[in-house]
Amino acid sequence: MHDFRSGLQRRWPALLPYLCRMEQLLQQIESYRKEMEDYQATDQAAVENFRIKYLGTKGIVKTIMGEMRNVPADKKKELGLIVNDFKLFAENKYESLKATSNEQPTSINHPDLSLPGDLLTPGSRHPVTLMKNRIVSIFRRLGFAVAEGPEIEDDWHNFGALNLPEHHPARDMQDTFYVQQNPDWVLRTHTSNVQIREMEKGKLPIRLVMPGRVYRNETISARSHCFFHQVEGLYIDENVSFADLKQTLYFFVKEMYGKDVKVRFRPSYFPFTEPSAEMDVSCFICGGVGCNICKKTGWVEILGCGMVHPNVLENCNIDPNKYTGFAFGMGVERPAMLKYGINDIRLFSENDVRFLKQFTGAI
Ligand SMILES: [Zn+2]
Repeated sequence: MHDFRSGLQRRWPALLPYLCRMEQLLQQIESYRKEMEDYQATDQAAVENFRIKYLGTKGIVKTIMGEMRNVPADKKKELGLIVNDFKLFAENKYESLKATSNEQPTSINHPDLSLPGDLLTPGSRHPVTLMKNRIVSIFRRLGFAVAEGPEIEDDWHNFGALNLPEHHPARDMQDTFYVQQNPDWVLRTHTSNVQIREMEKGKLPIRLVMPGRVYRNETISARSHCFFHQVEGLYIDENVSFADLKQTLYFFVKEMYGKDVKVRFRPSYFPFTEPSAEMDVSCFICGGVGCNICKKTGWVEILGCGMVHPNVLENCNIDPNKYTGFAFGMGVERPAMLKYGINDIRLFSENDVRFLKQFTGAI
């Protein structure tokens, strides 16, 4: 094209105005050709857009051909070849776009179902949640409903009402965190605060389990943490006896650890129950022979329990001469560690995906 233009200029200096117009035309042709080369059509609509833009009745090819009118007669042939070539190029490009888009015309409306899908990475339940659900589901079958309550609690609901008056030495066992703005607020040390709140409602009988997070001011180590989880239970009605407590917990351990598990109660002390006991089950790792888990004793301690202290009932306006009840409480982390072979309690709260994803599919 350079040759064409310089040749024209040399031989026909009088045609300079036309020359300018022709130069412009040739530049336009060149730029449209480049534009067409780069044109991509992924669907029929884009192919049709191409046709309208370049080959339509008011399209670019027609417009360029219209410009032939202004070309000197003896140059019409030379330029005509270029314009014709341009038209052919546009038509060929249109045909090839049509063919390519016809090859995959249905890709949008009819996706290829054999292609691999987008990968989803579903999360899994936390091992503490798995164990908590397991414990709760066993008591649900015995007719226990679930109750929950606040983790920031006043002194009365966490200590006072539970027969732990101020300066009572048993409070030392449950040192916790206090809220600076209000010395009466504590992070609850057990879910027993929910027991008090439920008893205060005055609706009897009560048959509830209370799962939740609790806090203790303890040094963090592989075996203890400043927060952990509990499931507590409470049953209050007329004529509830220690025999009911034993039978309920007996059912629980059979469901939890298998029908061959043995149970023993050891006398203990809690301010809020009387009598109180710790319950052990025969070691489900070694079958009672003795191993590292049970410290060679053959027994594993799993929960504390007892008959609700009359003072606690009175604190909640329940007549201890008419009603009796039992309560129990167990940690969730320890049985989860035993079940899943976890040797460090800190793993539960470190949010390490490598740890958590091991429980995908666990029940
Ligand atoms: Zn053992």
